[in-house]
Amino acid sequence: MRRVSIFGATGSIGQNTIDLIARAPDDYDVVALTGAGNIAQLAQDAIRLGADVAVTADETRLQDLRDALAGSGVAAAAGTDALIEAASRPADWVMSAIVGAAGLEPGLTALEQGATLALANKESLVCAGELILRTARKHDARLLPVDSEHSAVFQALVGEDMSAVERVIITASGGAFRDWPLENLAGATLEQASAHPNWDMGQRITIDSASMFNKALELIETREYFGVDPAKIEVLVHPESLIHAMVGFHDGALMAHVGPPDMRHAIGYALSWPDRSHLPVERLDLAQIGALTFRAPDDARWPALRLAREVMARRGLAGAVFNAAKETALDGFIAGTLRFPQMAEVVEEVLNTLDPGLIDAAMTLDNVRHADQMARHSAQHIIEQL
Ligand code: NDP
Repeated sequence: MRRVSIFGATGSIGQNTIDLIARAPDDYDVVALTGAGNIAQLAQDAIRLGADVAVTADETRLQDLRDALAGSGVAAAAGTDALIEAASRPADWVMSAIVGAAGLEPGLTALEQGATLALANKESLVCAGELILRTARKHDARLLPVDSEHSAVFQALVGEDMSAVERVIITASGGAFRDWPLENLAGATLEQASAHPNWDMGQRITIDSASMFNKALELIETREYFGVDPAKIEVLVHPESLIHAMVGFHDGALMAHVGPPDMRHAIGYALSWPDRSHLPVERLDLAQIGALTFRAPDDARWPALRLAREVMARRGLAGAVFNAAKETALDGFIAGTLRFPQMAEVVEEVLNTLDPGLIDAAMTLDNVRHADQMARHSAQHIIEQL
C-alpha cells in the first residue's frame, strides 16, 4: 500500500486525484487531505478515504471541520502550522495542488521527508525553483510534473538526452478572450474570464488562462523544471487543447504529446510513474476531430508572456515577485477593483519599481517570503492609486 497525501484536495486537481485514488482503494493508505473553505467536501472525502488527518488552511473553520468529522476517527487540524505538520507526516507520494504561493512550504516540507512530490502547484517552481530543486536533491526526493504541458514534455523526454533538445513548445488554448477584439478586453467581466473554452479548472487558473498569466508561469516552470534555456522555449496557441506540448530535437524530429483535456491523465501518469496505468480518460478519435490548428501568440493581447521572459532574464527572486504581484492583481480583478488588462499593467509596474535588492537576494525561504510580501504590498499600493 502506498501512503499518499493530497494538498488542495477540495480543488479541481485534488478532486481529480481523489477520483483516481478512490478507484483503487486497496492500493492507497491516505495520510492527509487538506483544503481551505470547502469543509463539507474535505470531511466527506477524508471519511470516505479513511485519511489519518484532514486539515483546513482556514483556522476559523476548525470547529466546523471537527463537527463534520465527529465520530469518524479522522483527526481535524487547521492553520498554516497544521498544513506543515501534515506535510511532515511520512508519505510515499504527495500531491501539491494548493493554489498560489501558499503551496510552497507544504511542498518543501514533503520533499524534506523524502516523499515523491507530484507538483501541480506551478507557483512553487516560479517563486522558488532553485530552492525546490535543491531541497529535492538534498533529501533524495523526486519531483514529478502534473501541469499537463510539463507532464507532456516529461513524457516526450523519456529515454532522450537533454543535449539533443533544440526546443520545447508548450501549447496554450488562448483562453476565454482568444478571439475577442482587443478593445473589448477592458470591459471583460469576471464571469466571462472564468469560462474556459476547453478545460474545467479552478477559477484562478481559468482567469490566468484568459490573460496568459498561466502560460507565463508555465514558461518559467519549464525553465526551472527541465533546465532549458528560455530562448529554446516557445508558446504556441492551439485552440483545440489536444497537443499539450512538443519537444524538438536536433535531428528535426518533433515529439508531440496528444491527449484529451483531462487532468486525470497527467495526475495518473505521476501516480503510476515510471509505469503507465489504465486511466479513465477519453480515447481520441482523430478522424472525427479532423484538424488541429495553431497560431503564434499575440503580444498585444497577452503581455504576460513578455513579462515572463523579462522575469527569466532577471533571474533571482524575480519569479516570486512576479507571482505575488500577479496573485494580488488577480484578487483585484476578482474583487472588481481592476479591469482585465490592468492586471498586466500592475504586475509590470511592480517589476519595474520594486527595490532591485529584493530580487537579487539569495534564494532562501525567508527571502522568498519577504520578496513575496513586498511585491504584494507594492501591487496593492499601485492598485489603490489607479
Ligand atoms: P482550485 O482553486 O480548484 O483548488 C485550490 C485548492 O487549494 C483547494 O483545495 C483550496 O481549498 C485550497 N486553497 C485555497 N487557498 C488556500 C490557502 N491559502 N492555503 C491552503 N490551501 C488553499 O485550484 P486548481 O485545482 O485549479 O489548481 C491547483 C493548483 O494546480 C494551482 O497551482 C494551479 O495552477 C495548478 N494546476 C491546475 C490545473 C487544473 O486543471 N485545475 C492544471 C494545471 C495546474 P478550498 O477549495 O477548500 O477553499
